[in-house]
Amino acid sequence: MPFYHMWTIGCQMNKADSQHIACYLEQIGYQASSKVEEAEIIVLNSCVVRQSAEDRVINKLNALKSIKKTHNPLLVLTGCMVESNMDDLMYRFPQVDLFFRPQAFSELVQFLTDRHLAPDELEPDSILPKPSPSTFVPIIEGCDNFCSYCIVPYRRGRERSRPMEEIIGEVAELASCGTKEVILLGQKVDSYGHDLPEKPDLAKLLTGLNRVDGLARIRFLTSHPKDMNERLIEAMAYLDKVCEHLSLPFQAGDDEILHTMRRGYTIEQYRALVDRIRYAIPDIALSTDVIVGFPGESEEQFHRTFDLLRELRFDTVHVAAYSPRPGTIASRKLTDDVPPEEKVIRREIIEQLQKGIATELNVRLMGSTVEVLVEGQKNDKWWGRTRGDKLVFFKDEADCLGQIVKIRVEKTGPWSLQGSLIYDRQRGEFPDMTKAIPKMQPGNLSTHIVI
Ligand code: SAM
Ligand code: SF4
Repeated sequence: MPFYHMWTIGCQMNKADSQHIACYLEQIGYQASSKVEEAEIIVLNSCVVRQSAEDRVINKLNALKSIKKTHNPLLVLTGCMVESNMDDLMYRFPQVDLFFRPQAFSELVQFLTDRHLAPDELEPDSILPKPSPSTFVPIIEGCDNFCSYCIVPYRRGRERSRPMEEIIGEVAELASCGTKEVILLGQKVDSYGHDLPEKPDLAKLLTGLNRVDGLARIRFLTSHPKDMNERLIEAMAYLDKVCEHLSLPFQAGDDEILHTMRRGYTIEQYRALVDRIRYAIPDIALSTDVIVGFPGESEEQFHRTFDLLRELRFDTVHVAAYSPRPGTIASRKLTDDVPPEEKVIRREIIEQLQKGIATELNVRLMGSTVEVLVEGQKNDKWWGRTRGDKLVFFKDEADCLGQIVKIRVEKTGPWSLQGSLIYDRQRGEFPDMTKAIPKMQPGNLSTHIVI
């Protein structure tokens, strides 16, 4: 069987796209390989959200020049590096045989079909994601927000929601093949449905997915604070399969910077939203993204970001140093005036702060029993995640892959937990952790916050 090699960097959307491409290549008879030398097709899935990611893609493309000369595989580049006008890319990277935008998957199908490497009858839309215990399911592509620093809307286009029935059908099929958890993806996942004829929203989709047999968990990301509404909070609180986990980037702790970023909310509104979510779902694990060193960010403004992180105590924080992206509003209109070494210092300050907070939050889980969906094995340990997205490692002889198990937490650190399996050896089975735990009723939720 011929081999393909896939290389991916960037966000979960890229990972989902790579899973989709891998699935297609496997359906037409290729097998995955970690060795570029033996691959007949090499696919690079790129990210250009920051210069550092773009540099890695360029290095990879340059490193593949010699393989192209000696082995002549088909070299394919996709992801956010691919613009609609590809002339510049074609000039810079002549070793690449096909460039296709992430939203133009059918171009890959056409390219391989034209070369008689794929059968004519395989429709691009008929390709399912590969079922794994936890599977990404994109539900809305693109972004209409145009935050001033961000290149995503230019590369991934305008928002396009997938029909609800199509998503529910796909998730039901995945669940019947063993998927226990789906992670619904979108750059602004909470604006799902506004562009569809019947205008369903994410709360409605979650309600439909909650009824899928065999599915135990539902997550979704990334939420935009200005699109997160009361219906969605209620759905999260009420639906038993929806995990107590939310990714809600605030990006900056200062209103002036937020305004220049074109984020569409103030810190007071963000704080009120977090209060509301924590009231409705008391054990929610929150994750956020922040950017440090945005143009004009003073020491004082940076400290407001620091203070907000210290006050709200997130479970996870992704911190990035501002990187000007050609073509974005910020790169055209604002001066990148925070020196690179200052950006590094600010990033490290946030990382240190978060390490302390995450350590304290995780220590509280010591001795408790957590529910873990086992996703894989690393060295001699199984690993998986709790409903609150905590990474957990444990050792056991049994085959735990895809099981939802109980783990007693015996060691905690800032980034993961370790423990041992609570296993009913006499009965020879795992305790049933998939039973729905009743949640708060929607009637208990009264206050409304509209951002
Ligand atoms: N849609 C999500 C949102 O609204 O927050 C995030 C999508 S973006 C691709 C992922 C993260 O990359 C952002 O949350 C932001 O923190 C970071 N990011 C985007 N553009 C950036 C830039 N020019 N410089 C540094 N970080 C950036
Ligand atoms: Fe980028 Fe803003 Fe859209 Fe997120 S909401 S993808 S940060 S433009």
